[in-house]
Amino acid sequence: MNYLSTRASRPSGTGSVPLKRFCEILLEGLAPDGGLYLPESYPQVSAQQLEAWRQLPYADLAFEILSLYIDDIPAPDLRDICRATYTEALFGSPQIAPLKSLGAGMYLLGLSNGPTLAFKDMAMQLLGHLFEYELVRRGEQLNILGATSGDTGSAAEYAMRGKQGVRVFMTSPHGRMSPFQQAQMFSLQDANIHNLAIEGVFDDCQDIVKAVSNDLEFKRAYKIGTVNSINWARLVAQVVYYFAGYFQATRTSTERVSFAVPSGNFGNVCAGHVARMMGLPIERLVVATNENDVLDEFFRTGVYRVRGSTDTFETSSPSRDISTASNFERFVFDLLGRDGARVQQLFGVDLPQKGCFDLSADPRFQEAQRRYGFVSGKSTHAQRLHTIRQTYEQWGLMVDPHTADGLKVAREHLDPQVPMIVLETALPMKFASTIVEALGCSPDRPAAFEGIEALPKRVRLMSADVEQVKQFIVEQCK
Ligand SMILES: *Cc1c(COP(=O)(O)O)cnc(C)c1O
Repeated sequence: MNYLSTRASRPSGTGSVPLKRFCEILLEGLAPDGGLYLPESYPQVSAQQLEAWRQLPYADLAFEILSLYIDDIPAPDLRDICRATYTEALFGSPQIAPLKSLGAGMYLLGLSNGPTLAFKDMAMQLLGHLFEYELVRRGEQLNILGATSGDTGSAAEYAMRGKQGVRVFMTSPHGRMSPFQQAQMFSLQDANIHNLAIEGVFDDCQDIVKAVSNDLEFKRAYKIGTVNSINWARLVAQVVYYFAGYFQATRTSTERVSFAVPSGNFGNVCAGHVARMMGLPIERLVVATNENDVLDEFFRTGVYRVRGSTDTFETSSPSRDISTASNFERFVFDLLGRDGARVQQLFGVDLPQKGCFDLSADPRFQEAQRRYGFVSGKSTHAQRLHTIRQTYEQWGLMVDPHTADGLKVAREHLDPQVPMIVLETALPMKFASTIVEALGCSPDRPAAFEGIEALPKRVRLMSADVEQVKQFIVEQCK
């Protein structure tokens, strides 16, 4: 399988970016032309193949799907990696992603039982093993530099802790994460994990990461890498649970299902798009946003308009407080018939210059729903609280604020003939204050997390200064 950039001019491979193999793009972020990597074509899965996969344990299903996209890791090694990643010990159940029926045709796919209690573990844990495998094979060391307001950073640290060839430098805004999130990250004592609490806000952390990455000489000398959601390996790992959810909700592989996905950077739901393109019988992909509704606006109107920092809201589903959906370019590439030159014009020229583009007059925009199954909706703070309450009263189930948005929008698109699978993206315990606001009581905390706020913390406090961060990295690399 070869990979191309969403901005490569046709015919593929002859443009500015040559075709690459999986392990080449594994450790890269954006393609050199600023585009995102996608496979040259989507492998097709037949109904017979689906039937054969139906009974597989999650790790073996992951191996089958990943091996369609990865041909530069020997099969036995890839199988070992999948089996080392998706264990009952780590994900809390033999199904790994267990499906719960809520009644009335609605289901909840449990993706938040990994070590950091959010769905990002599903992909990040695999990434940790893949990075270690490839870095050991190359005899290289990678320094991952990131910025987090909570979920991504903790998932990355728990995936990379103790892994050979990898160090993690994770910046976060000092004093702004919840005490639980701070405890999760800062209590890690692994020598290869470094927490940098920056005196500033999340944007200051992101600016530092950008400044370091833009210093190409430093980046090369200290092998700076990232693990953000545009990484193709993360996306393909997420494809697996769409299949696993489908198999649990159906009895034969001709039935259709829909998925509702709380979306921010469009990574999670883009994996659903890939699963659908492979032939998984998906009727609708329901994109649920919060008040930061860049994506809902696009699917309703055809206009994609990135937000400035003043109209990017801080909400009670904070893991989706985005101004631009970084994975969206992948879908637009498919929607426009894989026209890299057009994508380059939209994302490389129009967006930076005008902050928006408009596909409403393009007949292919209509296909977003008809041909690709996409519909959307949004949820506000009051609606979020209402859904949390209603879900608790109706089903005795506590859901986190992000999952609540998924449930709310899923209901609006419910078709009684088609099972609707809502992706659970985090456990309520991570967002306790909103649960208290909605229900007047705190979410239960599993025994393993009792008292973690009291554990010794390993964190370095720094001012929002690029040079200090660079200096710290240099010292650790000695
Ligand atoms: C990251 C995250 C999201 C957004 O997922 P995308 O892949 O960026 O669309 C939603 N909910 C939670 C809890 C998250 O951590």
